Amino acid sequence: MAESPQDRAAWLREELQRHERLYYGEAKPEISDRDFDRLMAELAAIEEEHPELRTADSPTRRVGGEPTEGFEQVEHEPPMLSLDNTYDHGELEEWVERLARLLPDTDFDFICELKVDGVSLSLLYENGVLTQAATRGNGRVGDLVTANARTIRTLPLRLPAAAPARLLVRAETYMRRSAFAALNEQRAAAGLELYANPRNTTAGTVRQLDSRDVARRRLDVACYEWVQPAGDDGDERPSHGESLAALADLGLPVNDSWRRCKGLGEVVAYCDEWQEKRGDLDFEIDGVVVKVDDPELRERLGATAKAPRWAVAFKFEAEQAETVVRAISAQVGRTGAVTPVAELEPVLVAGTTVKRATLHNYEDLARKDVRVGDAVVIEKGGDIIPKVVSVFEERRGPESKPFAPPTECPVCGEKLYQPEEEALLRCVNAACPAVVREAIRHFASRNAMDIEGMGDWLVGELVGGGLVRDPADLYDLTVDQLADLKKTNDARLGEKAAARTVDSLAESKKERSLSRLIYALGIRFVGDSTAALLARRFRTVDGLAEASAEELEEVDEIGARIAESVRAFFDSERNQDLLRRLKEAGLEFEEEAAADEGVDRPLEGKVFVLTGTLEGMTRNEAGARIKALGGKVTGSVSGKTDFLVAGEKAGSKLRKAEQLGVEVLDQAGLEELLGGAGSCRAGP
Ligand code: AMP
Ligand code: ZN
Repeated sequence: MAESPQDRAAWLREELQRHERLYYGEAKPEISDRDFDRLMAELAAIEEEHPELRTADSPTRRVGGEPTEGFEQVEHEPPMLSLDNTYDHGELEEWVERLARLLPDTDFDFICELKVDGVSLSLLYENGVLTQAATRGNGRVGDLVTANARTIRTLPLRLPAAAPARLLVRAETYMRRSAFAALNEQRAAAGLELYANPRNTTAGTVRQLDSRDVARRRLDVACYEWVQPAGDDGDERPSHGESLAALADLGLPVNDSWRRCKGLGEVVAYCDEWQEKRGDLDFEIDGVVVKVDDPELRERLGATAKAPRWAVAFKFEAEQAETVVRAISAQVGRTGAVTPVAELEPVLVAGTTVKRATLHNYEDLARKDVRVGDAVVIEKGGDIIPKVVSVFEERRGPESKPFAPPTECPVCGEKLYQPEEEALLRCVNAACPAVVREAIRHFASRNAMDIEGMGDWLVGELVGGGLVRDPADLYDLTVDQLADLKKTNDARLGEKAAARTVDSLAESKKERSLSRLIYALGIRFVGDSTAALLARRFRTVDGLAEASAEELEEVDEIGARIAESVRAFFDSERNQDLLRRLKEAGLEFEEEAAADEGVDRPLEGKVFVLTGTLEGMTRNEAGARIKALGGKVTGSVSGKTDFLVAGEKAGSKLRKAEQLGVEVLDQAGLEELLGGAGSCRAGP
């Protein structure tokens, strides 16, 4: 019996909403992304044909509709104020003292929250449906960006029946580091300029005119303030902490790291704790917001024209610093790409000394016009190397002149080549020692073939001395050859170390997964997660080598640029020769057969949190491997967490996991989970 379009649409909407909840809310998806997209496409088709069946809360709204013409303006009532800032404990103390002066003999409870570094939004739900989303604008009038906000998958379009008839919420929209990295990875693969940071990208994204572009960017949102509707004074008002809990109960995304603090001491402890842990989060925070909990007290404290008196921001130490560029050197990467590096007057940035900063490429350098001798601002963000963000042009002396990019490879002297579609300079000498060295270093690195003992020094010696010209040469090395190498202090490397390295080389032939080998080959644009996708799909090196560009592109997340690069790699005669010699050396070219699709993503739907220091891999690497097996990695422990991976010096997350009864894995446990899944190290 045929279902009416109306019933089908209603069913699809319910179903899609349920899956969104499972996916984003509970991290327990029941269907694949592709099936989800199929349901979405079906609903969109019905709505296209029967516009009368469209509803304001339809999940298709997230996909983004027609491009809008500029933005409508909307007035904020009450206005969206700014926050006063404090920069150290003393200023926080002054703020608390000011409260005590304004309201003597009062006990204050504070709610401390993370200050997410994004863009603020005002969200209005009427009768449970998201009807308005607006940017802060000038605080009184903002841009109406409802269509864009609807594309944020973690933001419910409809609230449960228990929601009040009118609900006004203030929230911060932001982009996760992981989403930002993925976006830049795609842009790199498409040859586009990279975005500078998640915050600016968020700001640009929220104001995109075509919400389809917004949908592709994967913004996120955190609600931090329930604005009590005006004229409701008869009722018992919830405290701020209670209102945050109530928002979360309604299914609105609220960052659950907030804490009720009594007195300055606890507030300071919270601020210090997060200043330290900010790097663990999958999103950027620039401080903590401290708020008075009691609504009566808030009202009595009131606001200045600029900011409420009942709240204050504690801003973290900037991860930026000013210094001087001593020199601009050139670095040759394993693909032959030559990139500029600023050699700096050493400077302390948030606790570590920084001596070098990346300038990305010569085009970027020219755009910023960075020159030797310039005073610059550098920034350290997350775990990437520091970068130069701006230049004080006005401080230049008369002798200052623009930097001229090199024309010859700084290592082999080969004339550099500028590929037309790229911002890069390249050394195309395949025998360039810098290129070979980087290729070997990459091949032996931890996430690749993981060859013990093959550090920078040894690789440099082997390549410099002509013993190794490509990765296959490594497998011909003998203990004698290695043992005789002279270290800088003229001591020999010695038999013991040499034997260990040769053993590790032998082990790497059999004990490394296919995805590691593919990654180790150093194919352009093929990082470790792409390598895992390719290994899963093609199962053998030969299978991959034979895949056509079309077959490659059929793999989810592999676009034309990656496909082309993989093809070009295997089409090269030099590489074919390399592969033949690797095979002759005895490297394992096949993945253990996996029984079915389910085995491919054994961690599907499992939510992991990583904390502490892991041996031999960074948390990012561990996260990539978990994700490659279908798992999800989040920043904080909650009831939804399945596993906490606790390395050395795990702290508060471990305690929280224990409190919540979350399963805790040590490093061995994690490796078993990753290895046991047949995708890390295949058994002998
Ligand atoms: P500022 O932009 O420095 O004036 O700081 C105020 C901004 O901090 C607000 O407009 C919000 O966008 C943002 N913010 C981020 N997290 C929070 C939070 N938990 N509570 C209040 N404001 C927040
Ligand atoms: Zn060179």
